[in-house]
Amino acid sequence: MKISVPKGTKDILPEEMKSWRYIEELFTDVCMNAGYGEIRTPVFEYTNLFNRGVGETTDIVQKEMYTFEDKGGRSLTLRPEGTAGIVRSYIENGMASLPQPVKLFYKITAYRYENVQKGRFREFNQLGAEVLGADSSNADVELISLLGNFFTKLGIGDLKLEINSIGCNICRPAYNEILKEYYKDKIDGMCADCKRRYETNPLRLIDCKEAKCIAASKDVPFIADNLCENCSDHFASLRTGLERLDINYNINKQIVRGLDYYKKTVFEFISNNVGTQGTVCGGGRYDGLIGALGGSDVSGVGFSMGTERLLMELESRGSLPGNEVYPEIYFVTIGEKSYAYARKISYALRKADIYTEMDLLGRSVKAQMKDANRKKAKYVVVMGEEEISMNKAEILVMETGERKEVSLDSIYKRIIEKKV
Ligand SMILES: [Zn+2]
Ligand SMILES: [Zn+2]
Repeated sequence: MKISVPKGTKDILPEEMKSWRYIEELFTDVCMNAGYGEIRTPVFEYTNLFNRGVGETTDIVQKEMYTFEDKGGRSLTLRPEGTAGIVRSYIENGMASLPQPVKLFYKITAYRYENVQKGRFREFNQLGAEVLGADSSNADVELISLLGNFFTKLGIGDLKLEINSIGCNICRPAYNEILKEYYKDKIDGMCADCKRRYETNPLRLIDCKEAKCIAASKDVPFIADNLCENCSDHFASLRTGLERLDINYNINKQIVRGLDYYKKTVFEFISNNVGTQGTVCGGGRYDGLIGALGGSDVSGVGFSMGTERLLMELESRGSLPGNEVYPEIYFVTIGEKSYAYARKISYALRKADIYTEMDLLGRSVKAQMKDANRKKAKYVVVMGEEEISMNKAEILVMETGERKEVSLDSIYKRIIEKKV
């Protein structure tokens, strides 16, 4: 029986992990330098967290969740996104009684039963951050500027920022009525999903990607033009905040969100790069989610982005650094005594954070030399019984072919002090 990875999943191999680490470490640095703490929540949660937190009417909950019953008969779901679990943790760990706001970031795997033909994965990775307990648009500006900083450091600072406001509990119900009125005589010609959304979540009619639905939405009135005073002020101060940091943006009234709990600010960073066009990162405000999940009335704002999507963007632009790692020194040994001796120096050097290599297969000198070449070692030391007994060794500088005779017991010090 041939066993393969489950459909929609993949292995990330050591050669690729270098790029992953590069992105994740940079993201970590950028977040930590803005005072965000890393959080890890469980891969699975009780299903009702996502039903309530992501929203019963969303495609995610209706079609894409990995839900199963455990041996104790509990309904569990693999997280389809990061925010719900973090909000659950905020409430459960009493973070509301900490000094506010609470600023968190995460690097996670998430799970959705996606259409694999479209190049989507069912297990995928996300980077994200959340600010909990801050109503002001200053929090939105901070998150957007943090992203701008991150993208610039990655060499993709030209991603386009698009922002919108999707209102609140006060202005949205009235707007939904406007939408229903607008779509009333168009809905028959729209897709099956939209027919369902018309009743449950009419805001989503606006961003349906079906051609006939795009056509039907041509003259749709936008919520950004139908905001209550509070939402309107919030949106204005967001724009002023961005302008004061010289962060360019476009207002895109077509950005809405499938997740019910989003309120006010929504934003996306978009790539216009040929071949990888589209959204790289999305975010927004979710005031009301914490209350909906049983916490106090605390507001939240955050973003998330697919790490795979980000990697694709960097790869297509050749923005990934050549981050190969080569051994500083490769010990080529002949016989047991010299192997034991070399292993001792090698171990000491590794404890001093220096990358050393040795043979693990009892290979011939020739095969060890070949391996040292393949791994592009900077220095090679060849030692046999004679070298040990005479306390001497030859260091071979691989780049130049130069050979230096040194005392065996000076190798550690020479490598440490970089005076070979
Ligand atoms: Zn409002
Ligand atoms: Zn549609």
